[in-house]
Amino acid sequence: MRIGIGYDVHRLVENRKLILCGVEVAYPSGLLGHSDADVALHALMDSMLGAAALGDIGTHFPDSDPAYAGISSRILLRKVTALLRKEGYELENADLVIICQKPKLKPYIRTMRENIAADTGVPTSGISVKATTTEKLGFAGREEGIAAEAVCLLREAENN
Ligand code: MG
Repeated sequence: MRIGIGYDVHRLVENRKLILCGVEVAYPSGLLGHSDADVALHALMDSMLGAAALGDIGTHFPDSDPAYAGISSRILLRKVTALLRKEGYELENADLVIICQKPKLKPYIRTMRENIAADTGVPTSGISVKATTTEKLGFAGREEGIAAEAVCLLREAENN
């Protein structure tokens, strides 16, 4: 077993969709970024790459590469899953926290977990997604951005 941690922040701006764990969340602003700026999946991917000591998503999917402009982070998550499998690892479980003042994410959590489960091949019971506010403190509390943290465990792939 290997443990990994990931953290990411993106700025909230007008005229962008808010995509979290592959779910389009109804909200008047969205996250700014080169890809779809899915801050939660970015933190998850960094935790997975970190557990395998394979760098971070910035090295694997540079934001200077036009191939990744506007790309769904779910596609990147599938690429990270395939890369880890090639290196002999599979995701065992993951736990994510999305840190934002608004909107309330509870109605979306189930679909978020199912998206990650589908992209990583882990049962939904192995994927946890939680949301918290910061009691209006800091950049998340001022609704200037959204942060996400993730931890995960990798196990050795079965057919390795
Ligand atoms: Mg990011």
